[in-house]
Parts: sequence; structure tokens; C-alpha cells
Amino acid sequence: MAEYEFLTNESSETVRIAKRLSELLGKSDVVTLEGDLGAGKTTFTKGLALGLGIKRNVNSPTFTIIKEYKDGRLPLYHMDVYRVEDADEDLGFDEYFHGDGVTVVEWAHLIEDQLPKERLDIRILYVNESQRKIMMTPYGTHYLEICKELSNESTSN
Ligand code: ATP
Ligand code: MG
Repeated sequence: MAEYEFLTNESSETVRIAKRLSELLGKSDVVTLEGDLGAGKTTFTKGLALGLGIKRNVNSPTFTIIKEYKDGRLPLYHMDVYRVEDADEDLGFDEYFHGDGVTVVEWAHLIEDQLPKERLDIRILYVNESQRKIMMTPYGTHYLEICKELSNESTSN
């Protein structure tokens, strides 16, 4: 499986790459985000929201499993499945995955079997206080093309 790596030197760079990614996303697109506490999952999601033209502030869903942001070019569905108790229970995720917006799922591995096969998996690794390694694994040609585009852009500037 192809993997695309991006190193960011400060949080604004993580925001910028996420923003550029979401400009390339369309309805029914699904992005998963994994990373330790403080890795930058919420920071990344803020960037996704910016790229969709969402003005509302994005924060961690924590007490709600799904937060919806609908004031942008496309809706953003921000899921945090950390508190889902039964990984196989049908909580209606599929309607989001095939819906009218972009869905981003934090702690997605907890509902692995419910995830669509075609999606973009992102892992954020802590390098040091200000640096992060962002690893993207595309499943399906649609996401592969997006990763190629992002990596072309990041090497050409
Ligand atoms: P949690 O699991 O606790 O919700 P999280 O993965 O959502 O954590 P954030 O809330 O996004 O993490 O916090 C990341 C923190 O790391 C922020 O304070 C951010 O400013 C800081 N940071 C420093 N350098 C970077 C970087 N290169 N990319 C992203 N965040 C960075
Ligand atoms: Mg968070």
C-alpha cells in the first residue's frame, strides 16, 4: 500500500496541508485520523474545515460522537468514536459515509469493520514539540490521486 509522508514544522503547516486536502475532497469522502493525545488531530480537522469554507470554530467532539458543520461549501461531519462501546453496533455511520458531505473520523480503528473500503487513512506522529509527521494511506484511486496531488504540491514549493 502506497504511503505519503509530510513533515510539518509548526501547527500552521498542519492546518495548511489539511486545508489543501479538503479543497480536493467532495461529497461522501471519508478521512480517518489517528494519533496520540496532542498529536494534532483536532488541529488537522480545523484545517479541513477551513478548506471547506467553514467559519464556525471546530473543537474535539468528545461528548458527542458526531458534530456537524454545515456553513461551508460542503457539510463536514466530525466523528470521534472513542466512546463507542460496541464496535459492531449500527449507529448510522453509513449514512454519513455515503452522505452529502465530508466525514472525518477520529479513533476510526475502533469501528474498523464499519468503515468504507475506499477512504483516506491519516496518522499523525509526534516528532518533537513543533514537528509532526503526517502519514497518508489512500484506499482507492480517488484518494490515491489526491495524495499524489498533495505530494506534488509540497515538493514544488
Ligand atoms: P486529543 O487527542 O487530546 O484531542 P489532538 O490529536 O486533537 O489531541 P490537538 O488538540 O490538535 O491534538 O493538539 C495539538 C497540539 O500540538 C496543539 O497545541 C498544536 O498547537 C501543537 N502543535 C505543535 N506543532 C504542531 C504541528 N506541527 N502540527 C500540529 N500541531 C502542532
Ligand atoms: Mg482532539
